[in-house]
Amino acid sequence: MSALLRRTKIVATLGPATDDPAVIASLVRAGVDVVRLNFSHGQVADHARRVGLVRAAAQSAGRYVGVLGDLQGPKIRIDRFAGGPVQLADGAKFTLDASLATDAGTQAAVGIAYKRLPSDVFAGDVLLLNDGQISLQVEKIDGPRIHTRVLVGGELGNNKGINRQGGGLSAGALTDKDREDIRTAASLGVDYLAVSFARDAADVNEARALLREAGGHGLLVAKIERAEAIKNLANVVRASDAVMVARGDLGVEMGFAELAGLQKQIILEARHQNRVVITATQMMESMIVNTIPTRAEVSDVANAVMEGSDAVMLSAETASGKHPVKVIEAMSQIILGAEKYQDTHLRVRVRNSGQFERTDEAIAAAVMYTANHMNVKAIVALTESGSTTLWMSRVRSDIPIYAFTRQPSTLCRVTLYRGVYPVAYDVTHADPEELYRSIFRQLLDLRLVADGDLVILTTGERSGVSGGTNAMRILRVAAD
Ligand code: PGA
Ligand code: MN
Repeated sequence: MSALLRRTKIVATLGPATDDPAVIASLVRAGVDVVRLNFSHGQVADHARRVGLVRAAAQSAGRYVGVLGDLQGPKIRIDRFAGGPVQLADGAKFTLDASLATDAGTQAAVGIAYKRLPSDVFAGDVLLLNDGQISLQVEKIDGPRIHTRVLVGGELGNNKGINRQGGGLSAGALTDKDREDIRTAASLGVDYLAVSFARDAADVNEARALLREAGGHGLLVAKIERAEAIKNLANVVRASDAVMVARGDLGVEMGFAELAGLQKQIILEARHQNRVVITATQMMESMIVNTIPTRAEVSDVANAVMEGSDAVMLSAETASGKHPVKVIEAMSQIILGAEKYQDTHLRVRVRNSGQFERTDEAIAAAVMYTANHMNVKAIVALTESGSTTLWMSRVRSDIPIYAFTRQPSTLCRVTLYRGVYPVAYDVTHADPEELYRSIFRQLLDLRLVADGDLVILTTGERSGVSGGTNAMRILRVAAD
C-alpha cells in the first residue's frame, strides 16, 4: 500500500545528459514530477523533442509529468574575447565597453550586449561576473565605457552574466527572445511558464497575457532572483501562481550570506498567499560528478522540504551531470527521510482577512481539518481545474490528496502541488451510490486504499464546473 508516498515534488531540468530516450524513461520511472525546459540553452527543436520523449515515457509508465518552460529573461552578459578566456588579476584595471565589437575582448576590456549598461551603473557599484566568481568595482563611467578595478579576479570566459550587488540593473523582464519563446511554450502546451528576473507584478502579468494570446494554458511561475522582486515580494507572489526561490542569481544580487533567510521568507510568503513554491539551484550540485550527495546537500534538500516547499529542483545535476537518474533517486530518498520528521498536524490557515473567499477554499479547509483528526486513508477531490486540491495542499498533512479529473491539463498541473496526485477519472454517474462505487473501484484498482478504509470525497453539485466544489463526504470504502 501507499505507505511511503513522497509528498514533496521533484522538478528536473532536461538537457544533453537526458537526451537518450532510455534515460528519460528512467527519470520518469525514478519519480520525476515536472521537467524543466531551459530556454537559455538549446533550440526549439530540442525542446520539442524532449517534450515528446517525456510524454511518451510518462504514458508508458502510467504517470503524469508536468512541463515547465523557463524563459531566459534579461540576463545581462559580457560579449566574447578574441583569444579565448582571459585571466583577471586582483587589483588590475578592466573596462566594460559598450562600443567594442562583440568578439574583440582582451585582458583590458570586453564588449557588453546590453548597450544601456553604462547609464545604469555608477562609480562605487560592485559588479559581479560569472555568478559572483569575479567582482569589479566601478571607478568611472566615460561615455560607453565602464572603467573598473578588479576586486576578486580569476578566469573570465565568453558571454558570462553580469549582476550588480544589491540589484537594480534596469533591463525589462521580457526580451524579444522571451516573447518568441512564449509562443514556443504555448505551442508545446507547457503546464508552467517561469519568468526569469521578474521585478514586479507587471512582469508576470505581461508574460501571462502573451502566453494566453498565443493559446497557452500554463500557470505562471515568478523566479525570485532580483533585489527588486524581494522588495516587491508580496505583489509578485500575488500576481503569480507559483514562485521559485532562484538561489543562483538571487545569491549573486543579494549576497550569498543572506540566502537561507531569504529562502525562508519567500517560502513563508508563498504559503501565506496559498501559492506554490519551488526551491531551486545547487541542491545536489556535487552529484554532477559524484554518485552520492554531500551531507550538506542532504541537509539543504531536507530543510527546503521541512520549510514547506512544494517542490525541489535540479538544474545541471540532471541537464548535464554524469548521474541524472541516480540524483533523482537520491533526492527522492532525502525527501522521504525529511518528511518522516515533519510536523504533520498543522493548523488550517485562514487568509489574512479571517474569511474564506470561496466555497471550494472553505470546503478544502474543512476536509483537511477533518482528515488530520480522523483516521482517513485518502482524500479524493473530483476537480476540473485542480483548485480544490491546491487549497487542500496548502495545509500540511500526511494524507494523500488524489485529484480525480478528466482534464488532461489538470492532471499535469497538480504534479507540482505538494501531496497531490493526479488520477484520470471521468464523472459519468449522476446517482451518488453509483458514483461512490465507481470511485472505490478506481481507488482499489490502483491500490491506493484497502477495503474498509475511510476516505473523504469532495464534489460539486454540477460536475464539470471549475471552482464548483461545495460538498464533502466521509465514506467507508467497500469492494463490491
Ligand atoms: P537559472 O535560474 O538556473 O535559470 O539561472 C535559477 C537560479 O537563478 O537559481
Ligand atoms: Mn537564474
